[in-house]
Amino acid sequence: MTAAERVVWKFGGTSVGDPARLRAVAERLVAAHRQGRQVVAVLSAMGDATDDLARLAHDLAPHPHPREMDALLSVGEVVSCALAAIAVQALGERSVSLTAGQAGVHTDGAYGNARLHRIDADRVTAALDAGAVVLVTGYQGVSDTGDVTTLGRGGSDASAVALAAALGLSHCDIFTDVPGVFTADPRLVPAARRLDGLGHDEMVHLADAGAQVLQPRAVELAAAHGIDIHVRSAFTTEPGTWIRKDPSMFETSTVTGVAHRRRDPVYTVRGMTPATVSGALAARRAAVGAIIRDDGQVRFTVPGAEPADVVAAFAAVDADVTVRADLASVSVVCPAAGERGDITTRMLGALERAGIEVYLVTSTPGRVSGHVADGLVEHAARALHEAFGLDVPAVYADRPGAVVGSGRAA
Ligand code: ASP
Ligand code: MG
Repeated sequence: MTAAERVVWKFGGTSVGDPARLRAVAERLVAAHRQGRQVVAVLSAMGDATDDLARLAHDLAPHPHPREMDALLSVGEVVSCALAAIAVQALGERSVSLTAGQAGVHTDGAYGNARLHRIDADRVTAALDAGAVVLVTGYQGVSDTGDVTTLGRGGSDASAVALAAALGLSHCDIFTDVPGVFTADPRLVPAARRLDGLGHDEMVHLADAGAQVLQPRAVELAAAHGIDIHVRSAFTTEPGTWIRKDPSMFETSTVTGVAHRRRDPVYTVRGMTPATVSGALAARRAAVGAIIRDDGQVRFTVPGAEPADVVAAFAAVDADVTVRADLASVSVVCPAAGERGDITTRMLGALERAGIEVYLVTSTPGRVSGHVADGLVEHAARALHEAFGLDVPAVYADRPGAVVGSGRAA
């Protein structure tokens, strides 16, 4: 007998958002199980459960202790996994839900953004071999002291990739509320196209620049372990987007896509040096994007951070930070973008022709980003998408399925 095929399937918050959707996920798991596959499902918390839990804490204290925050925020995934196990059992199959501690997911002790150390998957494999559909809580780990940690917002993606690696698989499926990865957020840019495939690097740059479909850390983990990720709709059986080591067989266009952040403030402090600014942020596990020191003040960006967390990081060192909050950013992602002056020139030219002023430009090998007024982010993203030839050809624009998807990936 050949060994049963093992799969790791991750479902995001929207995909398990209510009992009916949980039941649909359970049916999908059971169908795969009945086809003879060994199924591990990694679940996020239902809907906005994690945000709701965070709000409860912030109603009680402005800066809750990180250990208790992780104890609290990790609960949402416990609920969805236990309910999914109950739903699978109700369909007549064996199932077990496992928390990170039970599933052997070990991390360091950095609450709120813990790093994965190792996964001892023995209990998971024993449950699979005993014929159970196994539900593992996403987003959480357990530290050496036995405390619950979390892997950063959106961290269930990293949980799924890590479990796939620990089980020796070559890929994992991430089921979400959009049908794949697009050349831009289709809510902002209606002419965006779904990509059939792209490389790990390109996906890291898209995610880093604000694309919300996957957690950047998860993609880095996948690249490091050679895990392909299949991002696909939780609501259909259609194939989605493959994120692979070598995507050349899929995409020929050089520019991968346009990503944006609706909020990407620029901060200013006085009386600090770049090193002390970076240190204050690092103490909160946040990282600087760009820093400019001029005339006794330091200006900087902290891509992806909540402004309130940045302000708190400086309050902790008795520094006053000013926030220029009316800024967003748009990025063009393209292999070697930052080394090719033509990408930056085309980008800035397109924004200029669209009448959009750029406040700050930063570039890395994988992308060029510009800060623009937050009210202009949609206009900017569309202008760039068009300028780089990414728009769906007009002849296809009214073909059903040519432009699909909306809503935030969960
Ligand atoms: N529930 C967590 C969050 O909302 C983790 C996840 O969804 O991946 O960030
Ligand atoms: Mg979530």
